[in-house]
Parts: sequence; C-alpha cells; structure tokens
Amino acid sequence: MTDTLPPLRDVIATHNLRAKKSLGQNFLLDLNLTAKIARQAGDLTACDVLEIGPGPGGLTRGLLAEGARRVLAVEKDTRCLPALAEIEAACPGRLVVLNADALEVDIRAHLTPPIRIVANLPYNVGTELLVRWLTQEWPPFWDSLTLMFQREVAERIVAAPGGKAYGRLAILAQWRTTPRIVMSLPPEAFSPAPKVHSAVVHLVRLEAPRYPADARVLSHVVAAAFNQRRKMLRSSLKGLSPDIDTHLRAAGLEPSLRAEQVSLEGFCALARSLAG
Ligand code: SAM
Repeated sequence: MTDTLPPLRDVIATHNLRAKKSLGQNFLLDLNLTAKIARQAGDLTACDVLEIGPGPGGLTRGLLAEGARRVLAVEKDTRCLPALAEIEAACPGRLVVLNADALEVDIRAHLTPPIRIVANLPYNVGTELLVRWLTQEWPPFWDSLTLMFQREVAERIVAAPGGKAYGRLAILAQWRTTPRIVMSLPPEAFSPAPKVHSAVVHLVRLEAPRYPADARVLSHVVAAAFNQRRKMLRSSLKGLSPDIDTHLRAAGLEPSLRAEQVSLEGFCALARSLAG
C-alpha cells in the first residue's frame, strides 16, 4: 500500500531528484492534491491507467491509492527510477514503469482496455501528445484523458468561437471529445513553483466525432486558418485550393470571415468539401 511510503520531500532528498528545467520538472508533493487529481479521472478500479511523466511518483501514488487496477508509468528521466521502484514494491503487480520518451514509444501493447490516460507533463510535450491522441484512428485506445496544462493552454482547449483562445486545440479537442476544466492549481502547488497558474482538463472521448470530417484534412485546414488568424479565410486558405471561395461557400461560410468566427461545424463542413 502507498501509505507505507515516505513523504515525497524525503523521496526527493534521498534520491537527489533536483528538478531539471530541461525536462519541465515541477513536482507535486502534496499527496492530498495528487489523490484529488486522480479522482478527476473517475472510477479507476476497473481501468489500466497510462501515466506519462511520473517523476518521483506523487500522482502515481494518488492513482494507486484511488484504486487503479494497474498503472503503466512512462518516465524519461532515469534518476526517477529508484523512487518509482519503491512504489512498485509497495503495490505488487499494480505498477509497471517504462523508462522511455513518451514521444518515441508505442505503449499500446502494454495496456488492457479500458484505458485512461492521466499526466502532469511539461507544456510542450503535453500539447504534442494531446494533438496526437486526438488525431489518431478513431475510436482511440483510451476512454479519457486527464491532463495538467498551463491555465492558458487549458482555456484554449475548452474555448468557444469568437475569442483569442479559440484555435486549433479547441477544434481538435471539441471535435472528438467533451473537454472540461476540472481543477485549477496555483504555482505554489508545485515544487519548484512555475511562473504561471495550471489547470487539469478532463476530456472524455466521443464514440464518433461530433461532425464527419477527415482528421488529416481538418487538422490541415485549421492549422492554415489559425496560422494567419487575422486574415480572411479566402486569403489564409488560398494555398489549399485554387477554388477556395467555392469550397467556403459550399460549407456555408462567407470567404470574408476570419478563423475565429467559424464554428467547429463550419470547419468540418469545409474539410468535407475540400476532401470531396
Ligand atoms: N508527475 C510528476 C508530478 O506530478 O509530480 C512529475 C511532473 S513533471 C511536471 C513532468 C515529468 O515528465 C518529469 O518527471 C519529467 O522527467 C517527465 N518527462 C518530461 N518529458 C518527458 C517525455 N518526453 N517522456 C516521458 N516523461 C517525460
């Protein structure tokens, strides 16, 4: 059981886990808080949990204490392995640690459905993985994602049309999942404290996307539209087709609109017309 393990501050001191900026290491040390984050992923007792970036294991302990059937934890930093081995020993058969870069490994073979993904990751790795998880074949191997982001990134994931936060992340997330911000955390929740506030986003996959579209075409259209978000669509998207005005009108969109004025439904209609 995890409650026989030493406090995380002692674990970090014993194993000399000085946080490395290059690996985006901001650790959660309050086990009440990590248990609360684990609870945002729902009932884990019948699930395999994929945790990316366990570090010294605060969130890992939370997931195990909340009853996860099994946790597969993928950590890049070899320095964290002895600390994670102590958790493995305290919870026989329930924790498997993989020393790997989450951007490089395919971990699907190690997991048995139902699978939930939970992670407190560096911002750039988290966003990259989120986009991959949202644009792969559907339905995906996971049922839900519970991920820590900078507050500003979390707001971009749940943003509605019309504002500055609305963009590629909102479209891709809301197309295939229902995303919600479920927790906010101040900088002091982490050690060392980052400069910005953080938030946990819980995304539940939809069985089928909200509107039909080809993932690659949609991703491409949205990237082009928001790369030049101040321009009219007729201009930002002209590289996609010589007949872009016709495609925009076929999708019910005025060519003079700007990207942030277009709904998810509108982008999907445009992707269908362009793929047509
Ligand atoms: N989950 C721990 C916690 O909440 O205290 C650590 C969080 S810390 C923000 C991010 C963790 O992700 C670090 O342990 C870091 O070494 C790990 N990490 C960074 N990049 C990674 C990658 N590409 N693949 C796997 N782990 C990575």
